[in-house]
Amino acid sequence: MDHNYNKPSARIGVLSSHLLAPFSLMASSEKDAALAATPSDEPTIFDKIIKKEIPSKVVFEDDKVLAFRDISPQAPTHILIIPKVRDGLTGISKAEERHVEILGYLLYVAKLVAKQEGLDDGFRIVINDGPKGCQSVYHLHVHLIGGRQMNWPPG
Ligand code: AMP
Repeated sequence: MDHNYNKPSARIGVLSSHLLAPFSLMASSEKDAALAATPSDEPTIFDKIIKKEIPSKVVFEDDKVLAFRDISPQAPTHILIIPKVRDGLTGISKAEERHVEILGYLLYVAKLVAKQEGLDDGFRIVINDGPKGCQSVYHLHVHLIGGRQMNWPPG
């Protein structure tokens, strides 16, 4: 079968997929973690991070939200922004009208952190929801990802 690997554009595609392999491999283990996770409102590892019972690399904190570096970064910059009080927000699909203010604030903080991280040429914000959305931690979180060219459509 002719895969057109000899075309310069195809070779660049193959080369770039190899260069990006570390991020792709991590993405697949993230998927496994998401499929293994059971949606629940039990406490999560993020509660321990909020209480500083386990270490994290905090980049922004106030009384409402905490932003810290993802332990398994999918890009040079990968930060999670979470509400300090979950209040039923195991995921975005559980959002109710009372959450409107904190949801807006999480996005605003994502923008502040993007600026702080120097992501002036662009970035991506992701909220995974449920097993099919690849969610592995059931405490709502906004992923702020940047520092490399993003692709579309996402995987
Ligand atoms: P999601 O798959 O959308 O639920 O994202 C959960 C994220 O939490 C993943 O990107 C993990 O790498 C990240 N994560 C899990 N444990 C930790 C931890 N202890 N510190 C920082 N990030 C973590």
